[in-house]
Parts: sequence; C-alpha cells; structure tokens
Amino acid sequence: MRAVTVAPGVPDSLRLDPDWPEPAAEEGAILVEALAVGVCGTDQEIIEGHYGEAPPGQQRLVLGHESLGRVLEDPTGTLQAGDLVAGVVRHPDPLPCPNCAVDEWDMCRNGQYTEHGIKALPGFARDRWRVQPKFAVGLDPVLAPVGMLLEPASVVAKAWDHIERIGARAEWKPQSVLITGAGPIGLLAALLATQRGLSVHVLDRNTTGPKPDLVRALGATYHTETVGELDLEPDVVVECTGAPVVVLDVMCKVGPNGIVCLTGVSSGGRTIDFDAGALNRALVLENNVVLGSVNANRRHWDRAAEALARADQSWLNSLITRRVPVTEYAQAYSSGGGEDIKVVLDFTA
Ligand SMILES: [Zn+2]
Repeated sequence: MRAVTVAPGVPDSLRLDPDWPEPAAEEGAILVEALAVGVCGTDQEIIEGHYGEAPPGQQRLVLGHESLGRVLEDPTGTLQAGDLVAGVVRHPDPLPCPNCAVDEWDMCRNGQYTEHGIKALPGFARDRWRVQPKFAVGLDPVLAPVGMLLEPASVVAKAWDHIERIGARAEWKPQSVLITGAGPIGLLAALLATQRGLSVHVLDRNTTGPKPDLVRALGATYHTETVGELDLEPDVVVECTGAPVVVLDVMCKVGPNGIVCLTGVSSGGRTIDFDAGALNRALVLENNVVLGSVNANRRHWDRAAEALARADQSWLNSLITRRVPVTEYAQAYSSGGGEDIKVVLDFTA
C-alpha cells in the first residue's frame, strides 16, 4: 500500500512509498481505510529535518497526524464498518507520569509520550491504518468532506476547556474574545467562541484572501490593526500567532479577570525591550491569567467532534483551500502562495 514517509532528521527525504507494509496488528483492532490527512506546520518542520522520530528500530516515519478514515472492520464492535473515524495523535508515556496515568496525555509531564506521524508512532498518511478503540474517535457522517479538521479542532477544544476551568475560579460572565491569527487554529477557535455566544473579534495581518470573509461569515469582526490600536478590552484572548510582539500586546490588552490562552509556538531567539514590571502590575491588579495550551486528550477530541458536527458545513469546507491527490503529494507540502488555510492530502483520488 502507499505511504508518505520521511527519514527523520534528513532534510527533503519526503517520498511516496508504493509498497509500504500493511499496518501491524499491534497497532489496534480497528482497521481503517484512509480518506484524507490534513497538512500543517509540524509536517513542514519534519520534512525540513528539524523534528520527528521514526518508530523504534525503523529508518522512516509515516507522516500525517490530522487523520480521517472509514472503518473497514472493527471486531470490538466499538465502531461499525463504514463509520467515519479519526485517530487520536498522542499516546500516553508507558511509565506513566501522573497525568498519563489518568489519560491526560495532553498534560504529560515527562515528555515520554508518543505521537502518530511525529514521534515514534507511524502517521496516518498511508492507505490503511489501525487504531485501538480508546484512540478511535467516531465522526458524524456529515463530516465526510472535512473530518480531518478534527485534530486542530481538538487542540482548540482543549484550550476552551482550560479557559473555562480557569474562569470558574470566580463569578465569570465573559462577553468578548479576541483571537489573534486567522489560520486554522484561530478560525476554529473563533468557531468554538461563536458557539459559546461570545462577541468574537479576530485579528490578522491579511487584508486579502479568504480570511476576512470566513471571519465575517461566523458573525465575528475582522481586524487588521495592531492589538494596541483595538478599541476593545476582551475577557478572553486566544493567541494563535506565536509572534512575540503580539503575545506581549495581548497580555496588556486583556480586561479585568481576563484569561490569555497561548497556543502559538514561537521560534525564539528574538529579544524585545519591554517593561516586565508594568506587565506584572497589570496581571496582579486585574487578576489576569496567562496559560499555555497544547495537544488534547480524549474528552477534547469528543467535544471537538460535537462542535464540528454542529457547525455550518459549508463554512468548514471553505477552510480547506486545496485538496491534493496523494499521487501529487509533494504539492500538498509546498506553499500555495500564502493564501492557503488548510491543505489536505486526498487518499481517495
Ligand atoms: Zn506522561
């Protein structure tokens, strides 16, 4: 069968292997036929050789962590043949740490977790894959064209879960949310915010392309000014750019009892002259919280599946700006000129 693979640590070793072995029985009882995988920045980093780890004893890693497939057989009866399914990306560390011991693998303390298509587990960019029931998330049939958005949606569902848990420390009636960055994570964060009845503001540098219309289609407001220029004191900020200046600006911008959730990963190495004392004073005197959020556990995957099923399906479809047949795989991993939101590798073609 076909598989898109890389040799981790070797730049530009990406290729389509035509005769990759069938998935091993140990991978799980549920056999799945791949429909599509989403492509994201982590895939690019792995292809460039900066990141990624092959399974133990192997030279190559199958890419793909944003999965969508159709069940071929499930002898456990958890899912039925024909059901749509996505595979949870992260598996708990084998030790396990206190969090992994209770299936909070998203909160793993020791970094010994494994991840499909990223770290020591084969990815989903292959014609067939297997999954254990615990890591198999069933999807509403309506999500057939867009179900590969479940992985990024799970990351956003975790962020909202933690924001709401922190908000519950006191009486809390949030009205407005600012989302910085209108990529897939930012747009899905905006979707989940509108589902919560919040007044949603999305800030991005792009004045052209599909982003402004996608934001407006949610009933949200699109901004291209700087954070400092916004006439707004948001109760919640979901920061999705990782841009250092934006990160600092939103910490100063958030309103009293505000919560700033950081989801963007900065590359680091760039210093900014800034007043740490003023920031400390603002955080203390307004009871503000800044948290980082990454990955998702099973609860978040299930919530994300509900959120996507409730969403306007044509809007979700619009997030997918290119669908590339797997035979043309290299195109899926190359830049589409800057106006791509989500590129998808299509295994049905
Ligand atoms: Zn752990």
